[in-house]
Amino acid sequence: MARIIDGKQISEDIKTEIAIKVKELLDKGLRAPHLAVVIAGDDGAALSYVSSIEKQCKGVGFISSVYHLSANTTEEEFLATIDFINQDDEIDGYIIQMPLPKQVSIDKVTAHVSPAKDMDCFHPENMGNLLLGKECYLPATPHGVIELLKRSDIETSGKNCVIVGRSNIVGKPLAMLMLQKSVNATVTVCHSRTENLPQVCRRADILIVAIGQPEMITAEYVKEGATVFDVGVHRIEDATQPKGYRLCGDVKFDEVSKICDAITPVPGGTGAMTTACLLQNTLTARMKKL
Ligand code: NDP
Repeated sequence: MARIIDGKQISEDIKTEIAIKVKELLDKGLRAPHLAVVIAGDDGAALSYVSSIEKQCKGVGFISSVYHLSANTTEEEFLATIDFINQDDEIDGYIIQMPLPKQVSIDKVTAHVSPAKDMDCFHPENMGNLLLGKECYLPATPHGVIELLKRSDIETSGKNCVIVGRSNIVGKPLAMLMLQKSVNATVTVCHSRTENLPQVCRRADILIVAIGQPEMITAEYVKEGATVFDVGVHRIEDATQPKGYRLCGDVKFDEVSKICDAITPVPGGTGAMTTACLLQNTLTARMKKL
C-alpha cells in the first residue's frame, strides 16, 4: 500500500505557521490580513467553498469579506465591485469565485483584477511572471501541489512529471511551476487529444491528474513506484453512504494506491491545500504593505 500524502495535515501545518505570523502582527498593534471573495449567483459548490474560506480565515485570525452579487448582476456592476475592492487599502487581496454568470466576461474580469491583490494568479501580468519564473502570487491549487511535493520530501530534480489536464487554473500553471529551477522536473502535459494516454502516463515518476473525470485514471496508467497527485474532486451518488454520496477524485484510488509509492487521497489531499495557499498569498500581500 502506498504512502498517503496527508494534505489535510500539511495544510494545518501551513495554517499554524500563518496564525503565528498574524498574532505577531496583532501583538504589534497592526491590522490582520484581509482577504475578500467576489461571488455571483448561488452555485452550491461555490458557496460552500466560499464559506469554507471564511471559516479558515477566521481560524488563522484574518479578516474576510464576501461580495455576494446576484446571478443577474450586470457586467458593469461586477466590474464596479472589483474596482471598489482594488481601491480599498484595507483589503490586501481577493479572489473571484467561479463560475461567473454568462453575461460577465471572464476576460474583462481578469483584466480588471489588480495584479497586486490577485491572490489566485488570474491577471495576465501575474500569469506572465509565472511563465518567466519571476516573483508573483502563485495560483492556489498548483501551488498546493508544489508545497505537498516539498513538504513530503519527494525528489523532483530530473524526474519525469506527466500532468494530465491543460486548464488555465491547474494544468498549465502547474507545468510552469514543475519546470522552474527550484523543481527541475522534465514535464509532459496531456489533454483530451493525447494519443496513447495510458502509455504516456506510465512514463511518469510523478503523475499529476486534473481532468474532471471521476476515477478515470486506473492502475493501467501508473508506473509501479510512481508518486500520484489527484487534483480532481467529484461527488458521486452512493446509496451505501449515510449522506447518499461519496467524494472521489480523477484517480481510482483503491487500484492505484496498490502499485504507486505515494498518493494524495480525495478528500484530504490536494484540495485541502488550496485555501492554505490562498491564505499564504494574503499574508504575503499584507506583509508587503508594512
Ligand atoms: P477543466 O475542465 O478546465 O480542464 C480539464 C482538462 O482535462 C482539459 O485540459 C481537458 O482536455 C483534460 N481532459 C478532460 N477529459 C480528458 C480525458 N478523457 N483524457 C485526457 N484529458 C482529459 O478542469 P480543471 O482544471 O478546472 O479541473 C480539473 C479537476 O480538478 C476537476 O475535477 C475540478 O473539480 C478539480 N479542481 C480542484 C481544485 C481543488 O482541489 N482545489 C481546484 C480546481 C479544480 P482539453 O483541454 O483537450 O479539453
